[in-house]
Amino acid sequence: MTYGYSTGRFEKKYTYRGGDLGAVWEPEGTTFRLWAPTAAAAAVCLYAGGDPARSDRTARVPMRPDVRGTWLARIPGDLRGVYYTFEVTVDGERREAVDPYARAVGVNGRRGMILDLASTDPPGWEGDTNPQAGRGYTDAVIYELHVRDLSCHESSGIRNRGKFAGLAETGAVTPGGHPTGLDHIRALGVTHVHLLPIYDYGSVDEAAPGAPQYNWGYDPVNFNAPEGSYSSDPFDGAVRIRELKEAIQALHRKGLGVIMDVVYNHVYETEDFCFNRLVPGYFSRTDRAGNYSNGSCCGNDTATERSMVRRYIVDSVKYWCDEYHLDGFRFDLAGLIDTDTVNEIVEKVHASRPDVLFYGEGWTMPTAVTKRGVSLATQTNSRLTPGFAYFSDTIRDALRGRFNERGPGFVGGKTGLAATVEACWMGEAPCCGSPEQTVNYVSCHDNHTLFDRICLSRPDASPEEAARMNRLAAAICLTAQGIPFLQAGEELLRMKRDSRGRVVENSYKSPDAVNAIRWSDLDDPAVHRVFDYYRGLIAFRKAHPALRLTTAAAVRESVRPVRGLGEHMVAFEVAEGEERLFLAFNAEDRERTVPLPGGTWDVYISGDTAGTGALGTAEGSARVEPVSALALVRRREVQDEI
Ligand code: CA
Repeated sequence: MTYGYSTGRFEKKYTYRGGDLGAVWEPEGTTFRLWAPTAAAAAVCLYAGGDPARSDRTARVPMRPDVRGTWLARIPGDLRGVYYTFEVTVDGERREAVDPYARAVGVNGRRGMILDLASTDPPGWEGDTNPQAGRGYTDAVIYELHVRDLSCHESSGIRNRGKFAGLAETGAVTPGGHPTGLDHIRALGVTHVHLLPIYDYGSVDEAAPGAPQYNWGYDPVNFNAPEGSYSSDPFDGAVRIRELKEAIQALHRKGLGVIMDVVYNHVYETEDFCFNRLVPGYFSRTDRAGNYSNGSCCGNDTATERSMVRRYIVDSVKYWCDEYHLDGFRFDLAGLIDTDTVNEIVEKVHASRPDVLFYGEGWTMPTAVTKRGVSLATQTNSRLTPGFAYFSDTIRDALRGRFNERGPGFVGGKTGLAATVEACWMGEAPCCGSPEQTVNYVSCHDNHTLFDRICLSRPDASPEEAARMNRLAAAICLTAQGIPFLQAGEELLRMKRDSRGRVVENSYKSPDAVNAIRWSDLDDPAVHRVFDYYRGLIAFRKAHPALRLTTAAAVRESVRPVRGLGEHMVAFEVAEGEERLFLAFNAEDRERTVPLPGGTWDVYISGDTAGTGALGTAEGSARVEPVSALALVRRREVQDEI
């Protein structure tokens, strides 16, 4: 049945603007409000526990119709710890579902839980803030991490393996004594940890914590509650909330902002998603024939252009931001979300938290938008969403080779890419208008790890040569104008290999053995030198504001590409205020000499070394080692004498 959900008439009649959807707890009683305009009747069902396998219903309380298609019930008494669902009658059929606004849920997310959210705050939570506040988009260095990957390898030395609590552990070391986990991330120098999905997803059975299970979690079930399998007790809805807050607090205390990966563009079970059970089909786009749109390739696309879906997503992001003190949001397939929704989110959050970062995947995908005149948050439309940044697949593909292929990119010696690398380094990826809207990366959870791709695309390369290509890719990415982003473990030459040693390209449900960060690799001096190099690159970036410009105009003003260096080299002079930098990136397997502008230059990045301590000086010209980056800073004393 179709209800004309996307018509102006429906929206005028049924758009509810109150702030009390879901269960609002007070010691004297709990008020429930449900938006279900197509229901003929609605009720709240109470349960003693959160396990859907148990028949422990204690009450069924009818709701009365209220304004704008909402239903209301107030149940007296202190309901803390009680679980609940909503039941509606639609088209003569009774349907039960978890509250879309549920902030706490029982095991596997089938029942909501009523609780006093303040009771889940760890000590000191009131004073917890974003340690990166006051810095801008291009000051960020983002580290993309899956909760399990960090700690599930035995060499992590972390006790709470695969859990939120594992994120917070300090003092853990490899068998060789090198810091792992949080201490390692802190030492690396990144500013933000971006966590792969931490909301409640469906692909892991929380009731079987001991079973070998793994998933990235791009299969949302409850958008406003944390995933249970990362908690020490998935049966108690309060525990996961407290443990996630504790982890965020621990990261904040180490100076790290925390970014959440959000997947509003689709849901795990199309028709069984709670919103679609309560208001049939409202949450997801359908085409004229009534088929679910599937631009996401996950079975459905969220109808973000509908007023109560937009409102739900805006509320959800605002809730995570306020309740969990999150410092950024990465939107999965933002290209399926309309620009009005994206802008409303950014505006509402930035009104009180201008420090929150927003970015996402702006790929263009076919989707059956249900209204006319809707624009989608794609790279091509980036000018319509000025507060929202997009991943640059252009720099990724140029440096390492194309997605879903196995060929090399610029660092692997492929010709014809120098101009693209040059443009990307200047924050001029064709997709986005400014450095603040451009996320530069060369690997993320999707597709091959950087080192795997290099090994696949250049099977002739020795391990040392492959490490050089890896370092060069990192140097370009981490010095480029824009927002640098790296996949956790890239700095350890992370590989994803199955038990037979074969490269795994899509590890979304591969076992821990494939996905785990192998911390013991740090005990190999060659790998440790790569980690030191990444650390040095990040420190160098942080030391030089000229690498963190915020507008395309400022880049054009400050950055001058050096031309005529051939197919395998790009170089830049950067002049910003008093500062003069010279950077060269040589992808050729032989040493090159580049002419330098006047003055004496201190060398900070060369060969396999990078950092903020000078390695030597150069005048007139400088040598760039085979497959490596060079970065120089002009001495100011000399400039003064002249
Ligand atoms: Ca779950």
